[in-house]
Amino acid sequence: MLYQELAELYNRLESTTKRLEKTEILSKFLKKLSDEDKDVMYLLVGKIYPEYSEKEIGISNQTAIKAISKSTGVTDSKVLEMWKKIGDLGEVAKKLIQEKKQRTLTSHVLTVKKVIENLRKLPELEGKGTVDKKISLITELLTSAEPLEALYLVRTLIGDLRIGTQESTIRESLAKAFFENDEDAPEKIQEAIDKSNDTAEVFDYCRKRDIKELEKISMQIGKPIKAMLAQKVSTIKEGFEALGKPCALEYKYDVFRLIIHKKNSEIKLFTRSLENVTKQFPEVVEYIKQFVKGNSVILDSEAVGYDKKTKRYTSFQHISQRIRRKYHIEKLQDELPVEINVFDVLYYNGKSIIDKPFEERAKLVRQIITNHPYKIISSKQIITSDEKKAKEFYKAALKNNQEGIIMKNLKAPYKPGRRVGYMLKIKSEDKDLDLVITGAEYGKGKRSGWFSSFIVSCKGKNKGEYLEVGKVGTGIVEKEESKKDNKKVSFQELTDKIKPIIEKEDGKRVWIKPKIIVAVTYQEIQRSPNYNSGWALRFPRVTALRTDKPLLEIADLNEIEKDFKNKKRNWKFG
Ligand code: ATP
Repeated sequence: MLYQELAELYNRLESTTKRLEKTEILSKFLKKLSDEDKDVMYLLVGKIYPEYSEKEIGISNQTAIKAISKSTGVTDSKVLEMWKKIGDLGEVAKKLIQEKKQRTLTSHVLTVKKVIENLRKLPELEGKGTVDKKISLITELLTSAEPLEALYLVRTLIGDLRIGTQESTIRESLAKAFFENDEDAPEKIQEAIDKSNDTAEVFDYCRKRDIKELEKISMQIGKPIKAMLAQKVSTIKEGFEALGKPCALEYKYDVFRLIIHKKNSEIKLFTRSLENVTKQFPEVVEYIKQFVKGNSVILDSEAVGYDKKTKRYTSFQHISQRIRRKYHIEKLQDELPVEINVFDVLYYNGKSIIDKPFEERAKLVRQIITNHPYKIISSKQIITSDEKKAKEFYKAALKNNQEGIIMKNLKAPYKPGRRVGYMLKIKSEDKDLDLVITGAEYGKGKRSGWFSSFIVSCKGKNKGEYLEVGKVGTGIVEKEESKKDNKKVSFQELTDKIKPIIEKEDGKRVWIKPKIIVAVTYQEIQRSPNYNSGWALRFPRVTALRTDKPLLEIADLNEIEKDFKNKKRNWKFG
């Protein structure tokens, strides 16, 4: 397939914001897509590999600017200047390629295969001369590109495709293309996507035009799957009303989800954002080998950090250091030990068991795990219809320094990637909102050189829209040493993260890609004309970097409005 065809498709998708129109356009395209070109499924969302892959294109704006300059013969500074004016590096490339075409007569043909081939080489490059090699690979593509192709090529490179195609559009379009009159198709396709995290594989099955075929897509040991998520209720009574009696109640362990794959002695650990963290937790690998029975098993669990001396559970910031750490792992392992609390089993001895009722899976968890406190244990659980007993259990969880409880329907299946109404969380108080940083300002005096205040945003009502809800500069530490003591985020760390994702600058103010997620506590929410959400957080304070949280799951406008209505306050910082 020619890349031109794909560029035209992107263009048509971008030209409408209406979901139905997008589905119409994309489904027509998918009907014609051949098996050979199925990697296009990844390119449709700006990727080169399935969602579960950790390999990303990862090209900075600076590198893209250099490649545009090299392939069009215009200086770096001119490209930069145009970018500041136009605000979209893709448009800059388009314009410059157009001008170049008028000067020269060379024409090449760019295929999707060639684009994928070069893009896939980018994450493989390492060591000396990497940047130059990357620039050559990109330049090779750009010199063969037509203006429209250059636009989307550059946007793909810098991870900002802007065509408004998400997983849901792909799901609906696949359903329309291959199962036009089947009402259940979107649901079945979504299930297949959630299990495989690979839209090209799902496309392959859809092409058979037999909905039963989709059921053959199963989770595979070693390939990450999305975690099932809980809905929220405020009281135990509400929980029982929603789930029926009896139901299971479990401690809600704080803080970090770990999905564990065991195939004989081969162990892999994944976070809920599908990141492979096996190397960071060598002791957990040993616990699984020693204390989990079964040849092939997938377990769902929460890792909890504890203090070696007092044996008290510690906070997310503690353990998050371990997720991020790539070196000196043993030292950190000793300083910040973790306990694995297993609450579900999804796969056992060669078979997926997600469709079995929870009570059976929960029993199996307790059969295959030999409890070793402070290493690995099955989650603390009771099964009851008695509200009084349930309340006592909740109190015990809080006393035990846990965040609350989770109530679960005994008959329910496990739905990867879904936020389901049969798993309900009850927390003692709502402390934070998870928000994304969308802007920052350089600091003054001793904070010069760093970004010192950060604009935080929630999700808007439209897809891909982020609305500002406040500016925060507290909760972040200046010295790396105090970070070590308090397990806080530092200005340096945030500055380093922000610099490569700057989109626009104006004096001291920068606008950045929505990538860095932080947990923010606040005293209250008030109406405000200063931010485009119409709301502002009073006395916000950063409590943690949420590297484990996907962008899709940050707080949305409804949550902010609801919080305002409830006049919920966070007394801890109030
Ligand atoms: P969410 O996970 O719902 O998006 P969040 O990351 O802020 O939001 P919480 O709202 O605190 O997390 O609670 C849900 C999380 O609790 C689950 O995603 C899971 O990681 C964790 N959890 C802890 N204990 C259990 C348990 N016993 N059963 C299921 N999940 C548990």
